[in-house]
Amino acid sequence: MMQNILEKILEDHRHWTKEGALATYIPELSKQKIDALGIYVHEINGEVYKAGEWNTPFTIQSISKIISFICVLQDNSIDTLYKKITVAPSSDGFNSIVNLETKNEHRPLNPMINSGAIACIELVSGNTLEEKYERILNMIRSLSNNPYIKVNESVYLSEKETGDRNRALAYFMKSTGTIETNVEELLDAYFRLCSIEVTCEDIASIAVVLANDGKSIIDGRELISKKICKTVKAVMTTCGLYDGSGEYAVSVGVPSKSGVGGGILAVSPGKMGIGVFGPSLDAKGNSIAGVKVLESLAKKLDLSIF
Ligand code: GLN
Repeated sequence: MMQNILEKILEDHRHWTKEGALATYIPELSKQKIDALGIYVHEINGEVYKAGEWNTPFTIQSISKIISFICVLQDNSIDTLYKKITVAPSSDGFNSIVNLETKNEHRPLNPMINSGAIACIELVSGNTLEEKYERILNMIRSLSNNPYIKVNESVYLSEKETGDRNRALAYFMKSTGTIETNVEELLDAYFRLCSIEVTCEDIASIAVVLANDGKSIIDGRELISKKICKTVKAVMTTCGLYDGSGEYAVSVGVPSKSGVGGGILAVSPGKMGIGVFGPSLDAKGNSIAGVKVLESLAKKLDLSIF
């Protein structure tokens, strides 16, 4: 039943890939197959369902921002976070610089956009940026239950070479005191985190932990506290699809996080984790077919949290 639903939804929405575009601003991402589309559903009872290109590797990109955020919340009080980064939705694009100068006492609006995510890395525990990066990478490996997850070196080099906007954001934040550490080392950690390679299965497996209030569905161990899960799901709902979050809350209504690699990680609380991949993006940098697929699935299974 679920298998048929997934296959039908992919078939119905694959044509959307033609309406969007690859994230060519990261040259290496322009090599992706534009009409790829896949989904993996991981229910909290352990059942899994998959269809299409669910096993095609893609880079996690901004989906890594929720893992950095989880680490920040584990390592700091929320008030420490608020001194540097807030949790306010943004009506500008994910790489916007404008608000850093004019609003919010120079604090990035939220951890789901580039400025906020870059600043988050500094707040993670670790004596060096390398250690902070390792902590976040290990969290991705442990939540996805996949110890083999690693960086795609070509995408990493491509990001590093062309990441001038991120460099601008980071140096600006250094000038206002939001960032206090070495900017180039911080950016290096950020570029690596964005370039981590995953599949729909990996992100669905991370999502199902959040759907299960932070407990492993394999052995019941607490991987993230329930309190942190609530915070993360709230911020995913209000900021996870950048300036597309409001519309997405209306059309899908499931806490989610997108990335320009084409992935969307979606959490249906108490029910399932979902991983979708479709690298053709809409104007806001969200998978164009991926959003349509999730809209159909949410409607069919009545997943909206609202
Ligand atoms: N690596 C990308 C960037 O920094 C991540 C952005 C995204 O996924 N929205 O621009």
